[in-house]
Amino acid sequence: MNEWIEEDFPCLLLKSDIETTKIVWLNPFAHHYLGLKKPVEAKITNILSKASLIFYESYIKPIILANGKYLEVQITLISEEGKRVPSVANLTLSDNTVYWAIYVAEERDKLYQELLEARDLLEKKTEELTAVSRKDSLTPLLNRRAAKDDIEALLVQSSRNFFPLSFLLLDVDFFKNINDAFGHDEGDRVLIKLSDVILKQVRETDVVARWGGEEFLIVLYNTNIEAIKFFSDRLHNAIKTIVLPDGKPLTVSIGGAVLEEDEVTQSDVIASQLLKADKALYSAKENHRAHTRVFDKKNGFVKL
Ligand code: GH3
Ligand code: MG
Ligand code: MG
Repeated sequence: MNEWIEEDFPCLLLKSDIETTKIVWLNPFAHHYLGLKKPVEAKITNILSKASLIFYESYIKPIILANGKYLEVQITLISEEGKRVPSVANLTLSDNTVYWAIYVAEERDKLYQELLEARDLLEKKTEELTAVSRKDSLTPLLNRRAAKDDIEALLVQSSRNFFPLSFLLLDVDFFKNINDAFGHDEGDRVLIKLSDVILKQVRETDVVARWGGEEFLIVLYNTNIEAIKFFSDRLHNAIKTIVLPDGKPLTVSIGGAVLEEDEVTQSDVIASQLLKADKALYSAKENHRAHTRVFDKKNGFVKL
């Protein structure tokens, strides 16, 4: 049974014995593609990958025995050069002979691979863009919009299972003088140094943003008034280590407000906390700067 058909159709046509798996006939295209010698002594076992062979024995064969055919099954051929070639096969069974029509799908797999790579690249770029779009343009801190997103997320958590959030507005003291005395570039450097110092004092779960020119917002996770005092003492001390070109230490004023349980679900909760923090900040500025004041329901603006 080793006569060849002359026409070289661009697909692999084979006949194999269902019992012995011997290839009993194949077209010239299959002959060249698989690199089989004439007369053909190969078996299906020689042209399928190990996984495809197991699939053939345990799944394809029972189905063609039961239904007489199995269409569009994905298999992996082993080509003449030993290359694994993804392919699609249609199989029919007649008189103990399996008729195979196999279409190689090398390009489709390459395309699929390229598509996967393009998708990975796009995802990476999107992540990079998202990170860039969340960052402030000068400092390593978040910008206003990103901070609002993160605070909203904390508020959702806190509304499910309450924990206090402290809103702190920090403003550099006499920053205009720094710019005027040492130039705008030095002013920028001070803002970057200050950002680094703040970042070193906070935890992963806190939100730190550049809220405006020389004003910063810090939202401390699960922090009440007592805990703010510890934090702000530490922060004021750390900021003092930034020394200006004239040898004087940098100072800041901070205004704070602590979110109470009954305020978490308020619609304008961020704005109302910021308003209280801003008033506390104003009070600190009015009272010799360089310290923290926190809005307290009973006692007004308390110096910490
Ligand atoms: P106070 O202690 O009352 O806060 O005084 P201040 O001088 O810090 O406050 P004021 O609001 O008068 O000045 C803030 C200055 O910050 C004015 C503005 O030019 C400067 N500024 C705002 N954004 C930037 C920036 O990105 N870089 C630099 N170098 N300066 C900035
Ligand atoms: Mg200001
Ligand atoms: Mg200022």
